[in-house]
Amino acid sequence: TEPLLSVRDLRVQFPTRRGVLTAVDGVSFDIHPGEILGVVGESGAGKSQTGAAIIGLLEPPGRIAGGRIILEGQRIDGLTQEQLRKVRGRKIGAVFQDPLTSLNPLYTVGRQLTETIRTHLDMSERAARARALELLQEVGIPGAADRLDAYPHQFSGGMRQRVVIALALCANPRLIIADEPTTALDVSIQAQITSLLKRLCREHDTAVMLITHDMGVIAETADRVAVLYGGRLAEVGPVDDVVNRPLHPYTEGLMACIPTTHDRPPRLAQIEGSMPSLTAMPDGCAFHPRCPHAHDRCVAERPPLFDHAPSSAACWLWSSEGTRTLERTRA
Ligand code: SF4
Ligand code: MG
Repeated sequence: TEPLLSVRDLRVQFPTRRGVLTAVDGVSFDIHPGEILGVVGESGAGKSQTGAAIIGLLEPPGRIAGGRIILEGQRIDGLTQEQLRKVRGRKIGAVFQDPLTSLNPLYTVGRQLTETIRTHLDMSERAARARALELLQEVGIPGAADRLDAYPHQFSGGMRQRVVIALALCANPRLIIADEPTTALDVSIQAQITSLLKRLCREHDTAVMLITHDMGVIAETADRVAVLYGGRLAEVGPVDDVVNRPLHPYTEGLMACIPTTHDRPPRLAQIEGSMPSLTAMPDGCAFHPRCPHAHDRCVAERPPLFDHAPSSAACWLWSSEGTRTLERTRA
């Protein structure tokens, strides 16, 4: 099937007084209709900047400095703010970590939903209000009819995030970008929100780009996973392969950090060291200072993405002429 979204060689830069920071450095991936793509990595890996670039919400002076973003066959990386506003909401919905950033504290949730619906769809006030009610019911707000006229502060954190998801769904978008949607919530609520996203994705054939630092959330929710490191794509593939048979040494280290509910054998200890800062990216592979498999080539040359179906990894161990000294570990 044709991808819904294709990101090719995306580069996001921030000019600063001390020089240009490249926050996203040549990232490529596809999202297919109705699938959940998990985007995982440590903070500063470029996850949020990738999402913000797609949705046209990069914080100035951040800008797209290269690459292409194609949604349903149409390039959206060069659109004006005005054109982007139509894509955003209409074709792409957004859910962020803090539900309060998406909600206006002064308006009832019913009014916010109704206005958003009418911004994107040609509907009467009355029809829009009926749809707002349906959406609140759909995201599991108890007593939805009585909650239409409540204000955001009258909802709990988890319920507020459900309202934000309802807002993101107003125009029936093909894609939802959810950036750490559960991080600010109680652990007990997190699973409810991720299973809600999963259900909505299934029922509406809406794709979700789920950005999180939590590999556990990805393992439970995503169909495919993209692993970012230092603004670059380290590995991308089906969730089962990435979790259980990681190709990239960094992914392998990340997997060791998932609290296991299944009886997988213990893996590599947590990776020593920390991600390099964007101002001090090492030459070659960004992971080489921490990699137990680093060799001369890793220090000198940046690895491209090597296809090792069903996954791909940016690691010299998986080049066709590479040594493949790293056996694909099996659970
Ligand atoms: Fe390690 Fe080299 Fe692979 Fe980078 S390219 S992850 S340093 S083996
Ligand atoms: Mg982030």
